[in-house]
Amino acid sequence: MQYDYLIVGAGISGTAAAYELALHGSVLLVEAETAPGYHATGRSAALFTPHQGTQLVQAINRVSAAFFANPPDGFVDQPLLSPRGNLTIAEPGQEDRLQALLALSAPGREVHEINATAVLAMAPLLRPERIGAAVHEPGVADIDVDSLHQGYLRGFKQRGGVLVSGQRITALRRTGELWTAQTPDSSFQARIIVNAAGAWADHVAVLAGSVPIGLVPRRRTAIIVDGPIRIDTRAMPAVDFTSTEAYFKPDGGRIMASLGDQDPVEAQDIRPDEWEIAVLANWLQNETLLTIRRIEHSWAGLRSFVADDSPVLGFDDVVPNFFWLAAQGGYGIMMAPALGRVVAELLLNDSWLDDLAQQGVTAKDMGVSRLIRGHQPAVKNRDT
Ligand SMILES: Cc1cc2nc3c(=O)[nH]c(=O)nc-3n(C[C@H](O)[C@H](O)[C@H](O)COP(=O)(O)OP(=O)(O)OC[C@H]3O[C@@H](n4cnc5c(N)ncnc54)[C@H](O)[C@@H]3O)c2cc1C
Repeated sequence: MQYDYLIVGAGISGTAAAYELALHGSVLLVEAETAPGYHATGRSAALFTPHQGTQLVQAINRVSAAFFANPPDGFVDQPLLSPRGNLTIAEPGQEDRLQALLALSAPGREVHEINATAVLAMAPLLRPERIGAAVHEPGVADIDVDSLHQGYLRGFKQRGGVLVSGQRITALRRTGELWTAQTPDSSFQARIIVNAAGAWADHVAVLAGSVPIGLVPRRRTAIIVDGPIRIDTRAMPAVDFTSTEAYFKPDGGRIMASLGDQDPVEAQDIRPDEWEIAVLANWLQNETLLTIRRIEHSWAGLRSFVADDSPVLGFDDVVPNFFWLAAQGGYGIMMAPALGRVVAELLLNDSWLDDLAQQGVTAKDMGVSRLIRGHQPAVKNRDT
């Protein structure tokens, strides 16, 4: 069978795009691993942090927020977001470092200063002497990543989409108007390739005869440890600090933490580094009243960036009908609903961006300006 679209990668990005495109044409979603979500998608901190990332990332997340709040009927049977909130702590002497964050506060996206007593009421495992000043951002939420991903996969199949997992695409060849994608076991044909291969997106581009975009996969390490014995942390906000990239958040009755490390590495099935784990556990004990007796779970995942830390989407200019959906960095879960819609918009030229413009979100905000290298797409969209 020939498909209209072949999407490489069934992480959250490829799956969201597959779900949107399946309304409009035949879609094949090909995943190298037997379990979709095995790589970055299954290894995130699962936070919706609307104030983080570049201006473009924040604009995209404003649009995703509407999907999270009101997913389509039947998409999931429980809320995709649950309130978490975030505390940012400035150590004594660093209080002025909170000004930039406070300046971002706007109606619907509140960020406000709170005193140490209020901080300790919310996060009693913090050390009082480490708190100089703090801000609280109530709009940060936990994302139910598995429900989101499964909702997309289920809806994709209901719309007639086909998922093939455990098949790595090893060659891409274009003959006339048709791509042939080769895996060790099979070959598939499609009109348009969507490259949603996460950390491997540059590798897939090379397979297609194109040029890498300079994607850098960066390793991030995380641990889960037991929570404090006498303190119920389940309703505690996530906590980060002005002096470091490190953060922690509750995970059920346990605590998940990361140093916010971002070492550049090759795309791979990344494992946590023992030294990082030891440094991270030590940091967590220094910043909190926790006594860590054992690391319950540790993992590492790849966050993949290009130079300007914004996502890349659009048609390639070297090879025709090859579409990028890459470089989601540390925001790929929260951006997926909006980016999935943008991919469909760019490939189909439907009216969705007009609707967004009426809500005050311009096509430029949404990433249409990110169309890379100016290739004329097969279906011309209004901005090219
Ligand atoms: C520790 C950590 C914390 C994070 N925290 C957050 C957070 O709080 N909030 C947030 O929004 N984001 C967060 N992120 C980022 C988020 O996880 C990623 O941006 C997102 O998962 C990227 O999704 P993806 O689908 O693009 O990539 P992936 O999930 O990696 O999916 C790409 C898929 O492509 C497949 N693939 C690659 N090559 C081929 C091929 N040749 N053939 C077939 N299949 C192929 C891979 O097997 C993979 O499954 C975090 C990431 C990490 C590591």
